[in-house]
Amino acid sequence: MYVSALDLFSIGIGPSSSHTVGPMRAAHRFANEAALEGITGTPQLTVTLMGSLGATGMGHGTPDAVLAGLRGLNPETCSPLEVHGRWESLPRRGDGPGLVIELGPLDVEVFRDDLSFAPFERHSEHPNAMRFDLAVDGAVVASEIWLSTGGGFVQREGVLPLRSLTDAPAATAGIPFSSADDLLNECARLGVNFADIAWSHEAGLREPEETSAGLDAIWRAMDDCVEEGLSTRGILPGSLRVPRRAAGAQASLLARGIGRESRDPSWLNIYAMAVNEQNAAGGRVVTAPTNGAAGILPAVLKAHLESTPLTAEQTRRDVHAFLLTAAVIGSLIKARASISGAEAGCQGEVGSACAMAAAGLCAVLGGTPRQVENAAEVAVEHHLGLTCDPVGGLVQIPCIERNAVASSTAQTAARLALLGDGTHMVSLDVVIETMRQTGVDMSHKYKETSLGGLAVNVVEC
Ligand code: SF4
Repeated sequence: MYVSALDLFSIGIGPSSSHTVGPMRAAHRFANEAALEGITGTPQLTVTLMGSLGATGMGHGTPDAVLAGLRGLNPETCSPLEVHGRWESLPRRGDGPGLVIELGPLDVEVFRDDLSFAPFERHSEHPNAMRFDLAVDGAVVASEIWLSTGGGFVQREGVLPLRSLTDAPAATAGIPFSSADDLLNECARLGVNFADIAWSHEAGLREPEETSAGLDAIWRAMDDCVEEGLSTRGILPGSLRVPRRAAGAQASLLARGIGRESRDPSWLNIYAMAVNEQNAAGGRVVTAPTNGAAGILPAVLKAHLESTPLTAEQTRRDVHAFLLTAAVIGSLIKARASISGAEAGCQGEVGSACAMAAAGLCAVLGGTPRQVENAAEVAVEHHLGLTCDPVGGLVQIPCIERNAVASSTAQTAARLALLGDGTHMVSLDVVIETMRQTGVDMSHKYKETSLGGLAVNVVEC
């Protein structure tokens, strides 16, 4: 059940893990893995974005991401500038030469109208589906459906979900668990905590120094994203023309003499907004566990590090413990409910991120496993039923502010848990199952389709 922290927190680009990062990975995999040896002739590739990808893919940069993946780019290493705006700049068929991409032995000329949107074509396995059809001289030689299952994870239609973005085999040596109850029992039996259990799995995947270096890189990228967001002003891309607010809010706090050392709670909210503004602008972002919810973990961790006098070694220890504890909670929710807004609404994205941050914070503040489980439970419980209804199909309203608010909720949940001894009425397992059932019952209008809620009540001008 454990998903490696290095996969759950992947460094990529905005604005969406399921609609940008996942489709780029899927297109890249299709381009690399389609069996085309020995095929010759005149090829034509068509890509169909189905379900939620078809409904909000335009505002989430999905066409650019698909094109980037077909061109061989990876979300981890590409420059956002190499990706954004490329699809819009392609000519339509008949209006001039298309972009030539290499698929195995074939040079395929791609035009803007080779990609189409089919929001009402729903796939039985997942609402985020895309179909790649490659024809040569009019005959189909490869046709594959890929699913973007949230958090940047992808899988082929009909294939069991992977627990790793890199197809590495799932860790087998780690302490097994399939529920929060298991985790608590193992912690009590072995005298360990959630982060120790995560380490036991990471040890089955790579050398410890590699995991440590990966966690350091994740935190560096998160922190860079906060700082970059705080130093960038302007208007976010898209029809809404939403102004960035984090940099202005920082200036206003500083002008009032409220520096970062003040521990004023506004800094927490501003950090979260800075990340989500970077994400909305398509910048470099760490999926945590999705891009739409990427601001919560960095904000809560950064606020913790700034509020506590720590040596460099203690800082590193807290960063690792926070991220690993959060990864355990994210793994549980991913396996037992969903971290995908298209599958479970925003409770699956922001609710999950809030629970992960609450658990991580509770752990680094000295919480016992029971208190950590309690913190995660409180955070999920108060996001149950939260819908996904992004205005204009953009990851901006309500997403940016929602991350700021959920960061405060994560701190509150950790504090509440630390006030008790971990005893509580509603277990994390129960609340995750409730999230799953609520997601199943939720109308598709509220699952990243922009067909309901704020998306239809806010007038775009
Ligand atoms: S409303 Fe929530 S789930 Fe939907 S795009 Fe925004 S952050 Fe993601």
